[in-house]
Amino acid sequence: MGRHWRPGKRVAIVGAGPGGVSAALGLLQRGFDVQLFERQAEPKPLGGAVLLSVPVLAVLRSYGIDSATFGAFTRTEFRNAAGKLRVDVPFNAEVERAMGIPGWHYGVLRSTAFRHMLDRLPEGVVQPGQSFESYAETPSGIEIRFASGLRVKADILIGADGIRSGVSAQAFGAPDLFHVGLRVWLAWCGEVPGLPRDRGVLHHGRRVQASYFPMLHEGKPGFEWWVVEPSSADAVPPEDVEAHLRGLLKGFADPMPRFADHTDFSRQIFRWEIYNRPSLKHWTKGRVACLGDAVHPVSPYAAYGMGMAIEDGYVLARALEGRSLSDGPAVADAFARYEAERVAYVNHNVEFARMLGQRFHNAPAPVAWLRDMVFDHTSVLQRLVEKDYLAAAEAMSLQLRELHVDAQGRAPAALPIEPDQGASTD
Ligand SMILES: Cc1cc2nc3c(=O)[nH]c(=O)nc-3n(C[C@H](O)[C@H](O)[C@H](O)COP(=O)(O)OP(=O)(O)OC[C@H]3O[C@@H](n4cnc5c(N)ncnc54)[C@H](O)[C@@H]3O)c2cc1C
Repeated sequence: MGRHWRPGKRVAIVGAGPGGVSAALGLLQRGFDVQLFERQAEPKPLGGAVLLSVPVLAVLRSYGIDSATFGAFTRTEFRNAAGKLRVDVPFNAEVERAMGIPGWHYGVLRSTAFRHMLDRLPEGVVQPGQSFESYAETPSGIEIRFASGLRVKADILIGADGIRSGVSAQAFGAPDLFHVGLRVWLAWCGEVPGLPRDRGVLHHGRRVQASYFPMLHEGKPGFEWWVVEPSSADAVPPEDVEAHLRGLLKGFADPMPRFADHTDFSRQIFRWEIYNRPSLKHWTKGRVACLGDAVHPVSPYAAYGMGMAIEDGYVLARALEGRSLSDGPAVADAFARYEAERVAYVNHNVEFARMLGQRFHNAPAPVAWLRDMVFDHTSVLQRLVEKDYLAAAEAMSLQLRELHVDAQGRAPAALPIEPDQGASTD
């Protein structure tokens, strides 16, 4: 393969999405030999815009990606359809200080964030056009087979091949994917005159959510906006998407209806039917570890699918640091650490996001009425968001000590992506 491929250091990753690329960067920084196999002709990001939270930005910073390129932080608010404030998502001063990054959520075009990650990968790491078929463990490692006929011998295999992961299916069985009853329309547009750039708002009506968030697109200000509505596995999508969305947006306070006028419906909108799987207790087996959507597809209420995949890749690489991958018990120990840090935390986020989606979009009418009374006139939703969404993510951020800034606010220097390792072999 024309790159280092030394027994004891060989990591084959299947899937060059955000999770696979994150794992590759983290492992290359730690001196491992990495090959990233992607079935597409080139790695491509899904969807339009995305919100990235502070721990994700700190991980990207550790790969040498400057979070300043992702624009400015923004306050997130929950409001009802008429615009009444329900939740003002707070910033945690301790996390801001520890990470040296203000705020919590940053809006960015996914292709921009992903391109920054891909740009950090050395040439020859990605093997495009390679579709995973199966793997077999051998006494000395693992052999991976691809549809092209390519067979690769490695020490470990990382399955980062998304929601319909073949690696995860072979390791843990069929995923039993189920539609969570939600569909998301994700859109983005350029600047909308007169809107503040320091606020993103999630509006909830009886069964539909309509929301927006400022973002940067190629360094230029713009907005992402999205609509969540009930759906099902057999629901037929509307033929006239623009008319459908304009109709839904009409039920919401200004500025929601205005976004449609600034959006090119032929290229700036994506439909996303949300599927989940029952939570897994383990994401590793033998010489195989999985991450991202391959083991935990998430609904949009976590605003965190891409972020969690990036964090998984980082934590897995960090757990493997300094280990010989020929040493079975050392690998098993690293995998156990990775699972201990990630599985319960991520499963909680996925399950909480699914529960919020159910409550907001699929509650029977009388329950929805009562819910809105409670959310409009009490601080229940504020407490729910703080306790069940933010608290665990903030605690996790504080535990990522190696990513914290020093007393002068200086971030730790990013490790070189490929430390000098001597002569190249294959
Ligand atoms: C349309 C859409 C919009 C979304 N919007 C948002 C959003 O706004 N915010 C958010 O947080 N999340 C969003 N998500 C979810 C988010 O994209 C995922 O959580 C995130 O991409 C997961 O990253 P990943 O690396 O685990 O998997 P993926 O991004 O799915 O990457 C998997 C990679 O594996 C490759 N692959 C698959 N099978 C094989 C194979 N057999 N062999 C080789 N390669 C293979 C794929 O081509 C792909 O490149 C969206 C998802 C979709 C579909």
